[in-house]
Amino acid sequence: MLSAVLFLSPGSACAATNHRDYGVIKDQNSPYAKLRSVDLNDVRWTDGFWARRFAQTREVTLPRLWELACDPQAGHAIQNLRIAAGLEKGQFKGTHWQDEWVYKWIESACYIYAATADPQLDRRMDEIIEVITKAQQPDGYIASQTTARGWPRFQDFRHHELYTMGHLVTAACIHHRVTGKNTLLEVACKAADCICETFKGRDPKLADFPMNPTIIMAGIELYRTTGRRKYLDMANFFIDWRGSRYADGKRDIWAGAVAKGSDLNQNWRPLRKETEVVGHAVFFSYLYAGAADAYMETGDETLLSAMQRLWSDLVTRKMYVTGGVSPEHHAHPARSLRPGELTIIAGDSIHEGIAAPYELPNDTAYNETCGQIGNLMCNWRMLAITGEARFADIMERSLYNSILSGIGVDGQGWSYTNPLHWNGPQHVLRSNDLHSRGEPGAKMICCPTNLLRTLASWHNYLHSTSSEGLWIHQYGGNVFDGELPSGRKLKLTQQTDYPWEGKVRITIDAVKPPGVFSIFLRIPCWARDAEIAVNGRAANVPCEPASYAKIERNWVAGDVIELDLPMPIRMIVADPLIEQTRNQFAVMRGPIVYCLESIDLPSGVLIEDVCLPVDAEWTIERRPELLGGVTVLKTKAAVIEKQTANDIGGYRQVDNVRPRQVEITLIPYYAWNNRGEPKMSVWLPVAW
Ligand SMILES: [Zn+2]
Repeated sequence: MLSAVLFLSPGSACAATNHRDYGVIKDQNSPYAKLRSVDLNDVRWTDGFWARRFAQTREVTLPRLWELACDPQAGHAIQNLRIAAGLEKGQFKGTHWQDEWVYKWIESACYIYAATADPQLDRRMDEIIEVITKAQQPDGYIASQTTARGWPRFQDFRHHELYTMGHLVTAACIHHRVTGKNTLLEVACKAADCICETFKGRDPKLADFPMNPTIIMAGIELYRTTGRRKYLDMANFFIDWRGSRYADGKRDIWAGAVAKGSDLNQNWRPLRKETEVVGHAVFFSYLYAGAADAYMETGDETLLSAMQRLWSDLVTRKMYVTGGVSPEHHAHPARSLRPGELTIIAGDSIHEGIAAPYELPNDTAYNETCGQIGNLMCNWRMLAITGEARFADIMERSLYNSILSGIGVDGQGWSYTNPLHWNGPQHVLRSNDLHSRGEPGAKMICCPTNLLRTLASWHNYLHSTSSEGLWIHQYGGNVFDGELPSGRKLKLTQQTDYPWEGKVRITIDAVKPPGVFSIFLRIPCWARDAEIAVNGRAANVPCEPASYAKIERNWVAGDVIELDLPMPIRMIVADPLIEQTRNQFAVMRGPIVYCLESIDLPSGVLIEDVCLPVDAEWTIERRPELLGGVTVLKTKAAVIEKQTANDIGGYRQVDNVRPRQVEITLIPYYAWNNRGEPKMSVWLPVAW
């Protein structure tokens, strides 16, 4: 985007530039980032999986979530702001974080506007920004959840004022980036100024307020957008303050706080000293993403080493095969404690997050979509810092599985939770589970718009640039037309049927001036025997899984890269320390995790009796008419039916086990719960 002149006072450290260099995060000038985001206008989907998803996001999801936000019975989100603005009489309705619905909708609309320049969308954003401007208090405070009710501000951290204002600030940075307008950015700066003023005295009563810490990422993005150092300082303050009151091992006793020094909100041990990922998945993933942003600006190695340590803990001990990162609806914290520490967190409770290592139940998995999206955002930042493929691998794993599963294949109908096993209509619902996909209203505010902004912006996560050249992290039919940091203009077309096929053809359409630079292609962690050819000849570059293949040459228009990522069907076993998946297989092909739904079983066969032979032979079938167009996997499974009931209750003695064979069809996990409410399982017992 061409950046507009900012409204900063003379002498401020504004980094305004005419360079086309503004991505989902504005990391072009971040001194400790290795990779740079590409401009929001550089990439267009052309065809295939993601072109269809983007069109659906634009045509179905975005308007539907606007309609629901305006609906007085469902969202009431616009009305809340109008009431706070004095434009309408009425009562506030919804969650304490209803405002975020509007802010994330604006952010999503901006990504779509960047690709479509739809004037209607621009007008709609202007109209709602006018309301937001009027809902802001003279000193910058803005939160309809308190103002519209006449409640005092910053009385209870559960009112989520910093959380909703964080989303406002993020949306404002993107709005400014895409439209060049300052309207929402001015509101955001005033809000951030108010936050700085409120928290500068470090009142301990306010210590739990950044519970859901969007404000950290937001503050840093506002710093990047305006050049004002105070917003970076604010973000760093919130990182440093978190957990600081408990660093001496003493329990804080100020009354009335539910969170206290809780593992729920990572407020029991400071981030730099933390050794384990704990607590609410959205809270920890937004905190870590914010910390990664801070590192990019400050180079604080203590933050980076904490992030590396916590990433390993999460990925090796606490993450589902689908990328899900919040196993528990409700649980007690379970961390490795030193003697005498247990009493400190006794009585603490966790919800929507992580408790014990290797505790990954399938049936009762929470896996809130927002947790996975937070983790995706964190991994995007770690990728920018390091250029290491393992972070892009986690993004891919989460997106194709436990993020896409949160929205129906028709672009509407959402689920809050993403379990890996479902008992059909008899499934016992816990907290935010739903029998069938629902709509946001009085509940489920956060996930639908989080999905919306992720799907609306995914094309901005495919590429990065560095001093060496162009990095291609993710695959899908698109055209990139942008500029490298050296000033060289580059246009290339990617043709592929990814994620269903692993062949990717990249054509260099234009390179001005031609010359030597590198194109880096991610070889996913699952891709063995990947091959690359340039202009029909083997490129002879290392293609190890979970790395980037670097092709350095004198690129000219007309060059063609052919990447072949073989996609055999893979039987996956979990770490044996995960009790719930012991002696079971999950099935993957490429980045896609598959599942079995009972609707695809021959009649009379129970999903609970189906076992996967270790030497299963598979067939792959394209089904364009099914579930928005998917590839299914078929095999003959062993069905081990009930033995003679000669023991007690639900227990039987095994006598003569005579498995019979039935044909089963597996569908992508993300597409489960779109055909009524069958039973579903990702993991199936092994028939050895
Ligand atoms: Zn959510």
